[in-house]
Amino acid sequence: MSKHEPSPLFHRRHVLAGGIAGSALLLGARAGARARSLPSEAVEPRGAIAPIAEGPYMLTPLPWKDDALAPHISANTISFHYGKHHAGYVDKLNKAVAGNKKYDEVALTKAIELAAKDPADAAIFNNAAQTWNHTFFWASMKPGGGGEPTGRLADKLKADFGDFATFKKQFADAAASLFGSGWTWLVMKEGKLAIEKTSNADTPIARGVRPLLVLDVWEHAYYLDYQNKRADFIAAYLDKLVNWEFAMENLGG
Ligand code: MN
Repeated sequence: MSKHEPSPLFHRRHVLAGGIAGSALLLGARAGARARSLPSEAVEPRGAIAPIAEGPYMLTPLPWKDDALAPHISANTISFHYGKHHAGYVDKLNKAVAGNKKYDEVALTKAIELAAKDPADAAIFNNAAQTWNHTFFWASMKPGGGGEPTGRLADKLKADFGDFATFKKQFADAAASLFGSGWTWLVMKEGKLAIEKTSNADTPIARGVRPLLVLDVWEHAYYLDYQNKRADFIAAYLDKLVNWEFAMENLGG
């Protein structure tokens, strides 16, 4: 893949959705869209997961078992965060678009872009963005993750931040200092890697900015395991969970 081609995330999205919406993960697949094969370890987490039987937007499966990130993120946290919060956003999104022709047959990322332009569609934007952000967050972590990236991504981090330790400190500081609820992202912007903070449901893809990784710093992401110690949750993400292979895939070749 040449460096001018879109990353797998965006490329596959195009193939699947026939437009700029969709993703490698089938983020927010529409009912009827054929799902790509999922990792063999992908399972529905145990516990009370809210069924999302009605489309058109669907809750994507987790890429690992619900206890796979323990002890850094417990199965109990996943049961609420995925099974209640993430599922709830999908459910509310489906209710928000019901009967709205503007969103008929519109893939999730396209719905985010459309809704971002119209203040009247704030409920659609919030629930669509939260639906997409959470699927991206799950993929940003893996059991046995953390450490440092290698190859082109390592070189690019060094070029744009000076060294990996500086990137890590800046990312951790951004996540710790985010006021209220939101997300901390590693993005590719104008040819450079950068750290972005977004509040509430906001997402870089609403502005055409390409994310590589994300950390959810809403309190619901860590409170059951860490209570008010957000910094410990951030450290666990960076040291034990972050999925550099996913970031590399999003960086593209
Ligand atoms: Mn969340």
